Amino acid sequence: MGTQRLEGKIALVTGGSRGIGRAIAQRLAQDGAVVALTYARDEAAAHDIVERIRKDGGQAFALHAPLGRRGDAAALWSGFDAQIRHHAPEPVVDIIVNNAGIGRSADLASLTEDGFDEVFAVNVRAPFFIVQEGLKRLRDAGRIINISSGAAHLAMPEAIAYGATKSALDNFTRNLAKELGPRGITANSVAPGIIDTDVNAGWLRGNPEAEAHAASVAALGRVGRPEDVADVVAFLASDDARWVTGKVIDATGGSGL
Ligand code: NAD
Repeated sequence: MGTQRLEGKIALVTGGSRGIGRAIAQRLAQDGAVVALTYARDEAAAHDIVERIRKDGGQAFALHAPLGRRGDAAALWSGFDAQIRHHAPEPVVDIIVNNAGIGRSADLASLTEDGFDEVFAVNVRAPFFIVQEGLKRLRDAGRIINISSGAAHLAMPEAIAYGATKSALDNFTRNLAKELGPRGITANSVAPGIIDTDVNAGWLRGNPEAEAHAASVAALGRVGRPEDVADVVAFLASDDARWVTGKVIDATGGSGL
C-alpha cells in the first residue's frame, strides 16, 4: 500500500489501461484514491489492471471510453456517473488526469488533414470537453492534471502536429488554473520525455543503440519509466501540491539541458 494521502478522493484517469496512464492509475490507487480508468480498445488489459489494484487493496473500475469524437466526453461522464454510485453517494470527482493521447509521426510534407484532425481530436479536443463536462462533478480543491510532452517546447519536425497539440494543452492548463483557482482547484501539466511504453517499443526495445541514444538525451542518463511520471502526478494530485498551479512540470530526467 502507498501513502493513503488520497484517501476519500475519486480520480479519473483517461487511457489508464497501459503505459503511463496505467502507472498513474496504480499509483493514485496505492495512495488511497478510488480510480476510474478509461480504455478505448484494450478491454482485457483494463480489467487486468483493475484486478491488480483490487488485489493490492485499492479501489478501481474500468470505463470503456473512446475519445476524440463529438459527444465522447459526455458519454464518458455518463458511464462514470453510472459506476461511481458504488463508491460515492453522488457523482463527484476530485482528480481528473487527461492522459490518453496519440503521437502520429508526420512532417509538414506528409501531414494529412485527417492525421492533423485525429491528433488534435484525441490530444486537445478530448481534454477540453472532458474538463468542461466534468466541471459540475469536480469538487472544490480538485486537481486537473494534463499529460503533455517535452515535445511541446522542442522543434520535432518529424511529428509536427503532435508538438502543437501538447503546446495547446499547456495553454489550456494555464487558462484552467486561472479560471478555476478561486475554487481552490489546481491545473498543471506534466511533460514526460522519452518513456519506455508501447508507443516507443518499435524503435526502442531490443535496440541497444537507440536505447543508448535515448538514455543519453536525459541528464540522468536513462530512459524514463511510466512510474517516473506517475509519481509526479501523485504529488500534484495531493494536498502537498496545493500551491502549485498553471505550470508545466518537467518529467524528462533533465532532457535538453
Ligand atoms: P500509450 O499508447 O501506451 O497509451 C496511450 C493511452 O491512451 C492508451 O491507454 C490508449 O488506449 C489511450 N488512447 C489513445 N487513443 C485513444 C482514443 N482515441 N480514445 C481513447 N483512448 C485513447 O502511450 P503512453 O506512452 O503511455 O502515453 C500516455 C501519454 O503520455 C500521452 O498523452 C502521450 O502523448 C504522453 N507522452 C508519452 C511519452 C512517451 O515517451 N511515452 C512522452 C511524452 C508524452
